[in-house]
Amino acid sequence: MITLRSKREISLMQKPGAVVWEAHQAAAKLVEPGVSTMELENAVDAVFKKYDAIPLFKGVPGKIPFPAVTCISVNEEVVHGIPGSRVLKEGDIVSLDTGCKIKGWCGDAAVTHAVGAISEQAQRLLEITQGALQTAIDLMETKQRWSEVAIEMQRHVEESGFSVVTAFVGHGIGRELHEDPQVPNYFKESFLKDGDFQLRPGLVVAVEPMANIGKPEVKVTADHWTQVTCDGSLSAHFEHTLALTANGVEVLTGQPQKS
Ligand code: MG
Repeated sequence: MITLRSKREISLMQKPGAVVWEAHQAAAKLVEPGVSTMELENAVDAVFKKYDAIPLFKGVPGKIPFPAVTCISVNEEVVHGIPGSRVLKEGDIVSLDTGCKIKGWCGDAAVTHAVGAISEQAQRLLEITQGALQTAIDLMETKQRWSEVAIEMQRHVEESGFSVVTAFVGHGIGRELHEDPQVPNYFKESFLKDGDFQLRPGLVVAVEPMANIGKPEVKVTADHWTQVTCDGSLSAHFEHTLALTANGVEVLTGQPQKS
């Protein structure tokens, strides 16, 4: 069941959104060759502590509970990478995904960064994946149903020759990190019967396209969490928590990015 949020509830979601974004900015400043993924994790954690924000990823159940406040995924790692002693090097790309809860409301965002100078193709992957998210931000207020947005996000990625990861989708967000509806970044016919939803004021969703340079398939590694591309190709991930209001789309986890 999809819960539409009042204006007041959306205003309460601005705080966790802003704190998630501040945490991302703190980590982004450290991204350069020689930094470890644990240093990025610690930067995010410090911002959450400053605001008494509850980290939402740490302890998420799995074969082992997720051990960190941030998922940090490097190069062919798609999502759910575990921060540790790995040191980033020039030419890597690194995705950070994190979320927190403040006063009972959640925020969630992901960004992929270049580490120093990266290949032209990697740069293009970052631009296209971020562009898929921007496509959603631009279209959500003009389209009637999510499927009309998802098909354009998919087109944006596939026209570039890259592929959309279909194993993971975005989600409703509010009192909980993951609420209804599921928010796919691609279109399939069956959504029209089951899973498509109306775009109405009060809808709050975390939209999070992931794209690969190669094929879309992913697999989990031996740590039980890290998802990697099956073909070893680079993968990128961008996410914002977005509220659809009577005045358009509000980006709760960052500065408004309407183009
Ligand atoms: Mg998410």
